[in-house]
Amino acid sequence: MKPIAEIFPLLDTPKTIAVTFHEKPDADAMGSGLGLYHFLLQLGHTVTVISPTNWAAFLNWMPGSKKVLDFEFNQDRAIKAIDNAEWLFCLDFNTLNRTRKMESKLASFKGTRILIDHHREPQAEMFQYGISDINKSSTSEMVYDFIVNGGHPDKINNDCAECLYAGVMTDTGSFRFDSTTASVHRMIAALKEKGLDHSQIHENLYDNFLENRFRFFGSVLLNRMEVFYEYNAALIVIPQSDLIKFNVKTGDTEGLVNFPLSIKGIKLAAIIIDRGGEIKSSFRSKGGFDVNTFARKYFNGGGHYNAAGGKNSEPLDAVVQKFKVAIKENKDLLQ
Ligand code: 5GP
Ligand code: MN
Repeated sequence: MKPIAEIFPLLDTPKTIAVTFHEKPDADAMGSGLGLYHFLLQLGHTVTVISPTNWAAFLNWMPGSKKVLDFEFNQDRAIKAIDNAEWLFCLDFNTLNRTRKMESKLASFKGTRILIDHHREPQAEMFQYGISDINKSSTSEMVYDFIVNGGHPDKINNDCAECLYAGVMTDTGSFRFDSTTASVHRMIAALKEKGLDHSQIHENLYDNFLENRFRFFGSVLLNRMEVFYEYNAALIVIPQSDLIKFNVKTGDTEGLVNFPLSIKGIKLAAIIIDRGGEIKSSFRSKGGFDVNTFARKYFNGGGHYNAAGGKNSEPLDAVVQKFKVAIKENKDLLQ
């Protein structure tokens, strides 16, 4: 993978470009993708943003979101866009299998694959150019650096700024996590100087839920959470029946895993959800417990040091059992 700076001089020639990110995109994936989209458009490129799957409704306020193709829903158009692209930007994921059904399409792509990402252990050999930096708060911050270091800070219009802000704000837990460096604050200061209305973005993201999501949270915290004080760990297990009962949609479970992490003494919080055909897990930790390694070892996943996820195809009970064995095996690291 050659350094990303080597493509800066090539940006001046208009190209056909596809931009993609991980399945079930969060605000950083969608925000970095659309932030880059608004920037590239101004340089005269033809750009298509493709999401491997659908996304949460709370992202639909993002400028440009209506133009994003859902690969599962719009396969023909998405495949055509990939086939026509000279460049393919891959944002906010480290391994091609994070794009679900798009994986083989990305692997056989004949043009130039470019990575911008902050997850651990990337498949660097799959990209001709790129940047992977686990010390960056978010991929949206990296897209901002890409634009500024490429010499185009003037091309950050309000649409671009709103998308990038959303990604940085959510991936830093509203500027709370260790990853919130002075550079992050400098970036936000620069966006504010351009006139960004940041409080509106918080409202768009966090004050647009439907009542059912809170009834679901209440029920889950009461009935589905188990605390393992001996291991400083807590687990929420959600059967598919709960998802149906509360009409849970994509994105409704986001943030739920943070509740048990707020319990005094808890260092590892996990959520295991039966999505029907696939068991999805999420892990969050505090301090010195590495959930990237934990998710890789037991749950076919990965991510960051303090936030990771995974997928299993065994039945729900078997995955829950796996978790219980895993915390026993990691007892010393969890003290
Ligand atoms: P979440 O728990 O919010 O789904 O994801 C937490 C972090 O772990 C995110 O950075 C996400 O990209 C990553 N992640 C989630 N699921 C998986 C997975 O199945 N495999 C890998 N490699 N990373 C994941
Ligand atoms: Mn991210």
